[in-house]
Amino acid sequence: MTKKIAVLPGDGIGVEIIAEALKLLDALKNDGLDVELTEAPVGGAGYDAAGKPLPDETLALVKQADAILLGAVGGPQYENLSRELRPERGLLGLRSELELFANLRPAILYPQLADASSLKTEVVAGLDIMIVRELTGGIYFGEPRGIRKKDNGEREGFNTLVYSESEVDRISRVAFDIAMKRGKKLCSVDKANVLEVSELWREVVENVGQEYKEVELSHMYVDNAAMQLVKWPKQFDVMVTKNMFGDILSDTAAMLTGSIGMLPSASLDANSKGMYEPIHGSAPDIAGKGVANPLATILSVAMMLRYSLDQPALADKIDTAVGRVLDKGLRTPDIMAQGCKEVGTVEMGEAVLAEL
Ligand code: NAD
Repeated sequence: MTKKIAVLPGDGIGVEIIAEALKLLDALKNDGLDVELTEAPVGGAGYDAAGKPLPDETLALVKQADAILLGAVGGPQYENLSRELRPERGLLGLRSELELFANLRPAILYPQLADASSLKTEVVAGLDIMIVRELTGGIYFGEPRGIRKKDNGEREGFNTLVYSESEVDRISRVAFDIAMKRGKKLCSVDKANVLEVSELWREVVENVGQEYKEVELSHMYVDNAAMQLVKWPKQFDVMVTKNMFGDILSDTAAMLTGSIGMLPSASLDANSKGMYEPIHGSAPDIAGKGVANPLATILSVAMMLRYSLDQPALADKIDTAVGRVLDKGLRTPDIMAQGCKEVGTVEMGEAVLAEL
């Protein structure tokens, strides 16, 4: 059956990198990939086209799509807009409208790029971690929240960290399922020594773990997890954690790899419908120059094939092609190293295409 993919290039380099990803998707049609691609504006482009960052037509399109491929949003020309019209609101709208509660952030360091990390090569070469972050609950959304005045006139800010059993249950199932497809190790990160929410979190994760006996489950406090990620990251396979801890730890893990232009991400709903995007932004400083690294977006396509379109063989094909291109020494400026050949966005995209 034809799968519908909504393609949202967004702003800045989003447009350039999505163009390369689309060439790959087109080429994979020869391998039997049956997809229908429809483009729509979001972010600043949405504001320009329809006066808001998530236009109604775009929302209707993504709602009936099987998967969404997104470039990036944002740009200096939109910074003075009111909060609800800013490009980033388009992203938040997509996440909440589609109930994308599971954020998958791999931190993979291709051995060919080990020099790009600020850590020692032996600590990071070949790193392959998957961080599963809860995305629609926790302290970022908990009520009550606000800034209020105390009896003595002093102001105080407050937020609520709340997780229900069902929220923990569904995110842990996503993490266990992913662990089953990988190294069968799952580390749940919490703060159960201090927070009641974490006590419940740990209990629910343990319970779900009873159904996944093959997966080796461990628990770690978030402060220790932050240390261990930097000390010996290769001890981890899959990590699962709540929204705020995941926000911070996934950025730490991403930077272990040293190259923001290489990292894909996925956000999934309960039925494996997902939105796939590079973790980087619209990079206004290099937009339009033809030098943006398209590999994070290309690897996002591989994730889409794996997690939403049930095409693991095609996903492997893309991953392998990217590895071969790096083996050949082709590098965009952000990952350039001595002895390699510097290429632009289009040349990099076409090199991957040729390897396919
Ligand atoms: P950024 O990720 O856009 O850029 C940070 C730095 O990394 C820049 O120097 C940029 O040139 C470089 N970079 C990023 N992607 C690259 C790539 N593919 N190839 C080569 N170099 C790359 O973050 P920023 O500068 O903080 O934000 C710029 C805009 O993007 C802002 O409007 C911000 O709100 C938005 N943003 C959007 C997303 C998203 O769409 N998911 C994420 C982060 C930031």
